Amino acid sequence: DKSNASLLQRRADAVARGVSQIHPIVAERAQGCTVVDVEGREYLDFSGGIAVLNTGHLHPKVVDAVQAQLGKLTHTCFQVLAYEPYIALCERINALVPGDFIKKSLLVTTGAEAVENAVKIARAATGRAGVIAFTGGYHGRTMMTLSMTGKKVPYAAGMGLMPGGVYRARFPCALHGVSVDDALASIEQVFKNDAEPRDIATIVIEPVQGEGGFHPCPPRFMQQLRALCDRHGILLIADEVQTGAGRTGSFFAMEQMGVAADLTTFAKSIAGGFPLAGVCGRAEVMDAIAPGGLGGTYAGNPLACAAALAVLEVFEEERLLERARVIGERLQTGLQALQARHRQIVEVRGLGAMQAIELGEQGDPRVPATALTARLVARARDRGLILLSCGAYGNILRILVPLTVSDAQLDRGLAILGDCLDAAD
Ligand code: PMP
Repeated sequence: DKSNASLLQRRADAVARGVSQIHPIVAERAQGCTVVDVEGREYLDFSGGIAVLNTGHLHPKVVDAVQAQLGKLTHTCFQVLAYEPYIALCERINALVPGDFIKKSLLVTTGAEAVENAVKIARAATGRAGVIAFTGGYHGRTMMTLSMTGKKVPYAAGMGLMPGGVYRARFPCALHGVSVDDALASIEQVFKNDAEPRDIATIVIEPVQGEGGFHPCPPRFMQQLRALCDRHGILLIADEVQTGAGRTGSFFAMEQMGVAADLTTFAKSIAGGFPLAGVCGRAEVMDAIAPGGLGGTYAGNPLACAAALAVLEVFEEERLLERARVIGERLQTGLQALQARHRQIVEVRGLGAMQAIELGEQGDPRVPATALTARLVARARDRGLILLSCGAYGNILRILVPLTVSDAQLDRGLAILGDCLDAAD
């Protein structure tokens, strides 16, 4: 019996309940922007496996590259025997990451691992241990990244205190009354109350907060953060795990912030559905850790590197950065039209194709419309559209549609969302 219900029963019996699931669907296959479940029902995928599929499901170029690599080798462990795709990918990434300085890279497997390694590198390079992270930030589920992630339930709940030395600053958000100056002042408060600047190795920030609610960082804040880091010898880490690989209309979102980070993390869409992540940064900072201090058995897997190199080619051939900007404008226009009809939509925001709506009861941004958002996600799915929510209160609907989406599919998705909002009124 291959029904959704029977497989989900087996899932419930066999898989730890901590691994939750947003949609009660078991996927069978996927292509481009669509996913088909085990019962043959087709869905339009506006989630992209949480920001992993900027080039869509099974992009033919990515599949070809992985198949070609499968005919050569799938594993040596890069620390035992090198292979060219890893080297070639680091060369490409070094050229793509913003920053007018010589760069080096490291490949790992997951976004959390990339963030962990970026912090380790910053600690080694500065000889300091402190980390400043932001309210609403998300950096992963490993112990150190859980310290940095600014949302404890459900990610760290019941697991006790996480590693120390992480201090929390406020992320600027005009809608909720946190100005750029307030956010800067909160860092000065950390320096006063918690840890002196000389004990802080790094400030870690997402150029657009992803899980925290699609809040773009005002470029002015990023610029002041850069100046503050330079003043105190602190390294700036841009966590581009969700914003990177073209989602925001530039290959890395920091290109739109007017300053460069010392270290950049990337993952998700970089390898079009294969597990790959990494850290890229100033060569002398990256080299602060001695041989043997970085790596991992599977880190920089050859199939994933081949996929990533193909993803970069697809971006050029299909001009996906330009497309990301056009998709962003089309989404913004469509979402603003919905906002004009539905007062619960308190804000439409984002950067490039990373767009979202925030929902507040009676149009009040202070009262998160969490239940309504969950209802909209469920209704949209019943009508064939896979959406995700995010934010501290789960009241933000976010769109992470593949950049290979057609205008017709984009409009269909927006129409379904509009119908669901109408039905909720
Ligand atoms: N950083 C950011 C900004 C993320 O969005 C995520 C994943 N949502 C992570 C880190 C963690 O990545 P992973 O789940 O691959 O460990």
